[in-house]
Amino acid sequence: LEVIRGVEPRVADAIGAELTDQRASLKLIASENYASPAVLLTMGNWLSDKYAEGTVGRRFYAGCRNVDTVEALAAEHARELFGARHAYVQPHSGIDANLVAFWSVLARRVEVPALAEAGAGHVNDLSEADWGRLRRALGNQRMLGMSLDAGGHLTHGFRPNISGKMFEQRSYGTDPATGLLDYDAVAAAAREFRPLVLIAGYSAYPRLVNFRMMREIADEVGATLMVDMAHFAGLVAGKVLTGDFDPVPHAAIVTTTTHKSLRGPRGGMVLCDDSLAEQVDRGCPMVLGGPLPHVMAAKAVALAEARRPEFRDYAQRVVDNARALAEGLRSRGGRLVTGGTDNHLVLLDVSGYGLSGRQAEAALLEAGIVTNRNAVPQDPNGAWYTSGVRMGTPALTTRGFGAAEMDEVADLTHTVLSRTTPGTTPSGAASKARHVLADGVAEEIRSRSADLLGRHPLYPGVDLG
Ligand code: PLP
Repeated sequence: LEVIRGVEPRVADAIGAELTDQRASLKLIASENYASPAVLLTMGNWLSDKYAEGTVGRRFYAGCRNVDTVEALAAEHARELFGARHAYVQPHSGIDANLVAFWSVLARRVEVPALAEAGAGHVNDLSEADWGRLRRALGNQRMLGMSLDAGGHLTHGFRPNISGKMFEQRSYGTDPATGLLDYDAVAAAAREFRPLVLIAGYSAYPRLVNFRMMREIADEVGATLMVDMAHFAGLVAGKVLTGDFDPVPHAAIVTTTTHKSLRGPRGGMVLCDDSLAEQVDRGCPMVLGGPLPHVMAAKAVALAEARRPEFRDYAQRVVDNARALAEGLRSRGGRLVTGGTDNHLVLLDVSGYGLSGRQAEAALLEAGIVTNRNAVPQDPNGAWYTSGVRMGTPALTTRGFGAAEMDEVADLTHTVLSRTTPGTTPSGAASKARHVLADGVAEEIRSRSADLLGRHPLYPGVDLG
């Protein structure tokens, strides 16, 4: 930090303050984690200075031998860890990985017949007229994905996102009675809509998805099954999700982030079968800017960590802790979407406490519990205020929390929410944004959390001076 302080002290201060904040709060954001010192240090070096458009051994720039080494290593670890035929480790984020996947499915679809007609050997040889035909063919493709309020992600075909502009979209939801995925309803929607891409994967669904059944549905209607495992990649890597629940053997293409349950650097990745590998490798420069060599190096380190036996133990503890958290909330009267969890996250419907998701999120933050508000299925409060709070265990499990401690976290959460009331606007009108936490609760919760957090120091040995 001293080196940074010499140039821009405010940045050094913000970095230091972030560590202080993370050390002092209960981080329950389901998409966050704490990367290892090895992963963090691998990101801060001169590999960042290199341009390396292209792929390993086929670059548009000279002098890429060391970037080739780290990219090849990251891809090899990814293939071995997930049992994938092909891995592409360049995407800068999960959204970028999804864009690469969309591009490759679309390009494979339209390029081949158009090329055959044009008698050309490569997409670069297409004439303007060929491109016109391609554009028209690309313009009316369809995607079927999980709805946002059932737990799907914005990139799964929703209007405000580029995916909703590239594809005509329809979504499948969950059974209103149980909150669970209804495979018969997904199959019926697929038969009627006949999508090019059937997308499975979620940001806020607390149960498992049977990818074998999703593949059967895709095959029946001639769709490509794409799985976005951004949230649960760590559980796949740690062999907690196997058989029908491991997407890799069932999907033609799998995308992920590397920074959530996988516990790597911030970034994305694509795994695919041989039929898509060539298109996927054209991700940069067709869809992505130059790769981030320092981040690919950190992906290699994180994936090497995930191949160790300790990571399997970690992944199992993430799920055990989520169950303990769910049970702790449920037994204290909390209303959980689907009644519980099978993965790393819990979706708490806070309308039972008379609060909006926004009010609950703010009250918890005031007490040092960091979560995020999230829509619940058929949410009456919409996507901004919401009626839910999403909580996940990957970060606290990395810190060393166990099941008994998660029960205590459930108690802290319940205490805050049951002692929070909705606030009013300055003119006295009801507000979905403002909250009032009873006097003394924030202090009480912070002191109880400090005891828990003190048992599991974060980045021990890192001294801010
Ligand atoms: N896909 C899913 C399922 C996600 O939950 C997220 C992020 O929350 C993303 C993609 C996007 O990842 P990123 O923020 O790295 O672009």
